[in-house]
Amino acid sequence: DTAKPSNFLRHVIENDLQQGLYANRRWGGSPGDAAHHAQGMQDPARVRLRFPPEPNGYLHIGHAKSIWLNFELAREYGGVCHLRFDDTNPEKEEQEYVDAIRDAVKWLGYDCSLADDPARPGEAHEHVYFASNYFGFMYRAAEYLVGAGLAYVDEQSAEQIRATRGDFNTPGTDSPFRGRTPEENLARFRAMRDGQLPDGAAVLRAKIDMGSPNINMRDPALYRIRRATHHNTGDTWCIYPMYTFAHPIEDALEQITHSICTLEFEDQRPFYDWLLDRLAEGGLIASPHPRQYEFARLNVTHVITSKRRLRQLVEEGHVDGWDDPRMPTLAGLRRRGYTPEALKLFCERSGVTKSGGWIAYAGLEAALRDTLDPVAPRAMAVLDPVRLVITNWDELMGAGFLDECTAPVHPHHPEMGKRSFKLGREVWIERTDYEDVQPKGFFRLFPGNKVRLKYGHVIECTGGTRDADGRLVEVQAKLVPDTKSGTPGADAIKVKGNITWVAVADAVPAEVRLYERLFAAAQPGTGEVQDELNPSSLVVAHAYAEPALAKAAGQSFQFERHGYFVPDSRQAAGAGLVFNRAAGMKDSWGK
Ligand code: ATP
Ligand code: MG
Ligand code: MG
Repeated sequence: DTAKPSNFLRHVIENDLQQGLYANRRWGGSPGDAAHHAQGMQDPARVRLRFPPEPNGYLHIGHAKSIWLNFELAREYGGVCHLRFDDTNPEKEEQEYVDAIRDAVKWLGYDCSLADDPARPGEAHEHVYFASNYFGFMYRAAEYLVGAGLAYVDEQSAEQIRATRGDFNTPGTDSPFRGRTPEENLARFRAMRDGQLPDGAAVLRAKIDMGSPNINMRDPALYRIRRATHHNTGDTWCIYPMYTFAHPIEDALEQITHSICTLEFEDQRPFYDWLLDRLAEGGLIASPHPRQYEFARLNVTHVITSKRRLRQLVEEGHVDGWDDPRMPTLAGLRRRGYTPEALKLFCERSGVTKSGGWIAYAGLEAALRDTLDPVAPRAMAVLDPVRLVITNWDELMGAGFLDECTAPVHPHHPEMGKRSFKLGREVWIERTDYEDVQPKGFFRLFPGNKVRLKYGHVIECTGGTRDADGRLVEVQAKLVPDTKSGTPGADAIKVKGNITWVAVADAVPAEVRLYERLFAAAQPGTGEVQDELNPSSLVVAHAYAEPALAKAAGQSFQFERHGYFVPDSRQAAGAGLVFNRAAGMKDSWGK
């Protein structure tokens, strides 16, 4: 596929497949639990990837990149991608987030089913896993390290441990507990597990090298004591594994081949390999074990991609929930009118590299336009309406007469059919389409000028009426006979302006929510939220729309001249029309 730019991950995977790296994967000694966990994965030649969110919030555009990358690579190489909930932290995780994450992955178009897995033909099984189901194995792996003299229980305070870790220039110093025997350590670790020590009184640490130039290798913590009820395991455990210990084990148990993560984890890779090498030597996991690869995280200008900060926006009421259309969550983007196709195109265009940077928000909008323009039905809507009266209508067409006009649903797809609406004596036009005196380069309505009501007739403007405050309240025009669009001779009169409109007689009122960037700051996330927010990120307009839009549901439309809009999915049926603007017609964002 030459259209797709390649990336370093493809090279790694192709090379590994060519060498049959994972085809001969085997267990070291006695597989025990690991073999049990690996049931259903007896297909070692496959590329096996994973997307491992922590269920502590809603997924955002950055996660979409990771989902897209892992699922697309798995598909491309005939492998599978697991959805794994990395739920080893008891405090911040909730079922609501588990459900929202499953929804978001499915909405993006990825399912984790094994329908195409030759190892399990016809079986309805999903590759959805919970790290907390491996707590038992993780505990035994920790005991193995203790027994092998590779881990010890440190009873220094958290401050002492921090203070003796050293820094970039200074090596760490050994804990006074580092010399304990495996037997002592095993007894203390079991005391931790059995609830005999208070929270924070001790941690289990790997015994590696306090002088390592990589601070992550200076005896990192593996387990901590924390009395908290876990959403899956309840009160079974009062000790919980640290992320850095748990994650490699999760990958190994699921027989992941390539563990793809973002660059922040680069410094953790030596520990990832150290741990899995030790566990493979002990026969607890299969060899070769998974390998970690890092790519640059996605950063989008004017957008925050941190679940913690997004939660702050929700909790402090800066937005109306996780699915507020201004939120960069997948739930918010979806409600805003973004489609899976647009997000995937954006991910693909943003590239997979080793060096980070910020991608302009305009790129997100461009991907939306590029995917919607070819397929979105067209409609007219007047967002800032002012009444236009065709003063010779009754005389020419007859009092009360409504003329039927038609337009293509899509200008390049006749098969999508036609739409129809009425033209009458009074129509709504955009306030900005009228000027008392012609500004330079303006070819729409001003006294004496002719324009076409798009898909309708040519009219000649005769004037406008303003109230005492100078606000335009009405525009007047005369219809030019025999100029109806699509009739013979309609083009006899050339006009430079073609304006959108809807008839007062059949237009439907609609609330239109015009969203702007949520953050004024181009690279938000460093200062206080309230200083970085854009105070006018939502402008509500009271519009009139083409009658066909009264029945709009779920689908995106191009409002001619205005951009892409989708009916708000939160609006109850019968409660009035509400449209969210996904993107304007042209790039209006900070260049
Ligand atoms: P957050 O700080 O928002 O909570 P996280 O990385 O802690 O993000 P996880 O739930 O652990 O959130 O993320 C799941 C996966 O998504 C990880 O593999 C992570 O690397 C990836 N991911 C998160 N943010 C981005 C991003 N901006 N670009 C690419 N991948 C990302
Ligand atoms: Mg994380
Ligand atoms: Mg996080």
